[in-house]
Amino acid sequence: MKTYRKELWFNTPHRRDFINITSQVESVLAESGVKEGFCLVNAMHITASIFINDNEPGLHRDFETWLEKLAPEKPYSQYNHNNGEDNADAHLKRTIMGREVVVAVTNGRLDFGPWEQIFYGEFDGKRKKRVLVKIIGE
Ligand code: ZN
Repeated sequence: MKTYRKELWFNTPHRRDFINITSQVESVLAESGVKEGFCLVNAMHITASIFINDNEPGLHRDFETWLEKLAPEKPYSQYNHNNGEDNADAHLKRTIMGREVVVAVTNGRLDFGPWEQIFYGEFDGKRKKRVLVKIIGE
């Protein structure tokens, strides 16, 4: 069995962003040489997410609106966590949108359903943060 590990780095210009990382994950898979197995992709920070959904800008604006209703960024004082920090909303948004995805690898390709793409969801950006890609198989 082969294993392959790589970190992807992001530094978003805004506090919140959604970035399609599908092609980067496909490149890591190609480097790994794995043809049959599994590919795990997880955010290594507790204020960022990895999720799979449609690459459609309207949907991404809908996510932003929905997440702001569930866990509004402001006022900062509404959160117990914001005691010297201002990112309680980012922790909550990360929890809703998820930490990781696992995608089957079949014949050297990510075995997606129709329209599935992998996204990095940043909720407390403007600093360097990492995503782990771990691939196992043969
Ligand atoms: Zn925090």
